[in-house]
Amino acid sequence: MSSRTWSNWSGLAQCTPAHFETPADLDALAGIVRKTAESGGHLRVVGSGHSFTDLVNTSDTIVSLDNLSGLLEADAATATVWAGTKLKRLNELLDERGLAMENLGDINVQSIAGAIGTGTHGTGRDFGCIPTQATGFSLVTASGDIIECSETENAEIFKAAQVSMGTLGVMARISLRLMPSYRLKYVRQRATFAEFADNAMRWRDENRQFEAYFFPYTETVQLKFLNITEEPPTGRKAAKWFNDVIMENVSFELLSRLCRAKPSRCAGVSKFAAGFIGESTEIDAGHKVLSTVRFVRFNEMEYEIPVAEGVECLRELKDWIEKDRPEVHFPIEFRFVKGDDILISPFHGRDSAAISVHMYKGMPHGPYFDGCEKIFRTHDGRPHWGKLHSLTRADFEKMYPKWEAFQSIRKRLDPNGVFLNPYLERIFL
Ligand SMILES: Cc1cc2nc3c(=O)[nH]c(=O)nc-3n(C[C@H](O)[C@H](O)[C@H](O)COP(=O)(O)OP(=O)(O)OC[C@H]3O[C@@H](n4cnc5c(N)ncnc54)[C@H](O)[C@@H]3O)c2cc1C
Repeated sequence: MSSRTWSNWSGLAQCTPAHFETPADLDALAGIVRKTAESGGHLRVVGSGHSFTDLVNTSDTIVSLDNLSGLLEADAATATVWAGTKLKRLNELLDERGLAMENLGDINVQSIAGAIGTGTHGTGRDFGCIPTQATGFSLVTASGDIIECSETENAEIFKAAQVSMGTLGVMARISLRLMPSYRLKYVRQRATFAEFADNAMRWRDENRQFEAYFFPYTETVQLKFLNITEEPPTGRKAAKWFNDVIMENVSFELLSRLCRAKPSRCAGVSKFAAGFIGESTEIDAGHKVLSTVRFVRFNEMEYEIPVAEGVECLRELKDWIEKDRPEVHFPIEFRFVKGDDILISPFHGRDSAAISVHMYKGMPHGPYFDGCEKIFRTHDGRPHWGKLHSLTRADFEKMYPKWEAFQSIRKRLDPNGVFLNPYLERIFL
C-alpha cells in the first residue's frame, strides 16, 4: 500500500512509512512480516497510536491489525480475540456474553494488543497491569512463523511477550482471563492534599479501586472511589454528561488554549479548575464507568514508584512545583497497580504507585517533565513504556532484574532487529 504520514494521538510522534499494511488474515500478516525480514527491512505494528513515544515510527513498514478484530471464541471465564480489537468493542462483545475484563485504564480506544504491549494499567491494589489478564498469544515472529505461547506452552516466551512493545513479533490472537460482568459505583469527591496524604493507603485498601488527581499550585485533590454494587444503574445523567464532556473536556480545552497563548496563566488556571471539583456518584456497567472521554490532547510522562514511596513522591512534586513554578495546569494523576512477574513490566516484582504528569499539546513539555523525572528517579521509578522518558539501555539494564533474560529471547526471536526502530535501538542495542 502507498506511503502516507502517520502520527500518534498527540501528534508528537510522526513518520512516513514506505508501506502501511492492513492484512485481512493471518497468512497475509505472516507474509508481510516474512517479506520485510527477507528484504532486510523493518516493521512496526500499530494499535490505536495512543502511545506518546516513537514506538511505532519507521520509514519502512507499519502494519495495522484493524482488519483483524473481533471475538474468536469465549467460554465462562476466558476468551480469545483478534489482537487488533479495540477495547471498547471488546468490552461490548464480552458484556453481551455476561463477561468482563477485571480492570481497564482511563480510556477504551486502545487496541488490546497495544494496551498489552506497553503494560497499560488502571488502578486498584489487587489488579496488575492489563498484560496480567492475558493467558496466551499467537505470535508472528520475524521468520514469519507463528508461535503459540502461554503459561504452559513456550512459557519463557510468554513471560517476555506480555510486555514487549512489538519487539518479539506481532501478536495476532490473544487469550484473556475474564470474570462475570459487574456493575461499578463511582464516587467522586474532593479533599485537601493533607487528607489525601494521610489516607491514601487506607483508601487503597478499603476500595476495589481508588485514584486521585492533584491540582498543581493548590492544596486540592480530586478523589475517585470505585466499588462493585448491586444498586441500579444511574444511567447517563445530564449532570454526568455535563461533568465529563463539558467540564472535563470542552471547558478544559478552552482553559488549556488560554494557557498555551500565555503560559504564565497556568497556575491561575489550575487553581480555577480545582475550584470546580464537585461531588458526584455514577452507577453503570464496569467497563463504561472505568473509561472516560479525552478530547483535550496532551503529552504525558508516567513513572511507576515503589508503593511505599508513592505519596512522598507526589508531595515532592507538589513542593518542587511551588518552588520552581513550571508552567503546567494539568492535574497529576495518582494510581495503584499490583506487582507482577513479567520480565520487563514496570511493575515487575513490586506493587507500585503510578504517577502521571501531562502537558497540553503545543506547549513545551521539556522543562516540566525533566523536573518531574528527576524526582521520579530519586524514588527508583520505572517509566511507563508508552509514555515519555529520557532513559536508554544502560538505565534499563540496572532497573530490570530480568533484562538480560528478555534480551536473549528478543535476540533469539529477532536476530536481525526486524522489529526495531531508532527509538527502540536506544533501548535495546
Ligand atoms: C488519552 C490517553 C489515555 C491513556 N490512559 C492510559 C491509562 O489509563 N493507563 C495506562 O497505562 N496508559 C494509558 N495510556 C497509554 C496507552 O494506553 C498506551 O500507550 C497503549 O500502548 C496504547 O495502545 P494503542 O493500541 O494505541 O497502541 P500503540 O500506541 O499503537 O502501540 C503501543 C505498542 O504496542 C505495540 N503493538 C501494537 N499492536 C501490537 C500487536 N498486534 N503485536 C505486538 N505489538 C503490538 C506497538 O508496536 C507499540 O510498541 C493513555 C494514552 C492516551 C493517549
